[in-house]
Amino acid sequence: MGQLEVEAAEYSQDFKQTIVYCPKCGERHVHQAESWAVNAKGVFFNGTWYGFTCNCQQDVTFMLSFESVPMLVGKNYLVVRPAHSFGEIDGEIVNFEEQRTEVEVLPKPTTVIVCDGESETIEAIPEHLARDDWYAVRIVGSGKRHWLNTKGCQVILL
Ligand SMILES: [Zn+2]
Repeated sequence: MGQLEVEAAEYSQDFKQTIVYCPKCGERHVHQAESWAVNAKGVFFNGTWYGFTCNCQQDVTFMLSFESVPMLVGKNYLVVRPAHSFGEIDGEIVNFEEQRTEVEVLPKPTTVIVCDGESETIEAIPEHLARDDWYAVRIVGSGKRHWLNTKGCQVILL
């Protein structure tokens, strides 16, 4: 019997638990990510297939599909950008590996310092950075401050 692929019906906000319905018999399965021991944090990752065998003997693989949730100032998150392809550049396919970054969300500034090489001026934050999917963050570990766009990323509260 071949494997059937299905999308997880629901998942918890912390990505530690998910509900999957068997595509053959419809049985409801509640899974804990820690059962897969995929990583120390015990969460399901986006873009990863997880497999189990249903009581009806059907082998099922499932994947989470998710939407980015808003991040809160002062909290720490693991931001996972799935592996993706950038397309073809000069005849070569350019692929990016999965990226995992631990960040602390900082209050978003309303102004930025613009340096033109001679003088520095304070200006209002550019329109694109003012949008909701851009965050001011501190990288945990290096302590560096960054702007981060979470579009297409999985955001896991730590
Ligand atoms: Zn089944």
